[in-house]
Amino acid sequence: MSDSTDRQRTLDDQQLLRYSRQLLVEEFDLDGQQALSTATVIIVGCGGLASPAALYLAGAGVGRLLLVDDDRVELSNLHRQIAFHGDDLGEAKAVALARRLGALNPDSRVDAFVARADADWLDRHLPDATVLLDCSDNFATRQIVNAACVRHAKPLVSGAAIRMDGQLAVFDLRDPGNACYACVYGEGTDGDLACSEAGVLGPVVGAIGTLQALLAIQVIAGQEMAPVLRLFDGRTVSWREIRFRKDSRCAVCGG
Ligand SMILES: [Zn+2]
Repeated sequence: MSDSTDRQRTLDDQQLLRYSRQLLVEEFDLDGQQALSTATVIIVGCGGLASPAALYLAGAGVGRLLLVDDDRVELSNLHRQIAFHGDDLGEAKAVALARRLGALNPDSRVDAFVARADADWLDRHLPDATVLLDCSDNFATRQIVNAACVRHAKPLVSGAAIRMDGQLAVFDLRDPGNACYACVYGEGTDGDLACSEAGVLGPVVGAIGTLQALLAIQVIAGQEMAPVLRLFDGRTVSWREIRFRKDSRCAVCGG
């Protein structure tokens, strides 16, 4: 029996059909599918970034997803947090999102945590993770998440959106020579602008969350990640790229 036939046997007929369109993609194929099916992905924050990110990752067949958020679904969330429906109002976001993912793809085991992703929670769950998506909406959480990913040497897919602007980067902390979030943004938590004050357009945050899913799939499939911060300007629908380097004096990851 050929190697590829052998490998196809690890997927049943329903799975071959479910994933057929992504299996056809040369850069992904069966190896990528296998990697997804055994991957564990943590998603911190279950709002506008996580809505598309989690839907795409569950749809693609990620084996296990851990969702963590202590917030509840509000009416003012629905214009951008597309995983939620009107009848989810008042429910814990992590629970409502987990239910949607469960309905989408029974291949994905989804665990919802109605909790804050603090250092204790992250230290408990990060050792099992293949990759973490930071879909939170504040600097304080981003710094805690980054420090934990440095401690546990895990790749961090970071996304953010406010008004008409988005930011996207992968910090591959499996290699201690790579930069962390604090190397690029510093350690501060100042200047935090919540969506509740500054506003955000749904498709801007949706585009960034969607691309977080793409980058996570690439990390899981073993693709090398460039140290590039991508800045999205929704007014002109254009991107700018800034290369970054490790800061040897970084208080979080430096010597
Ligand atoms: Zn650093």
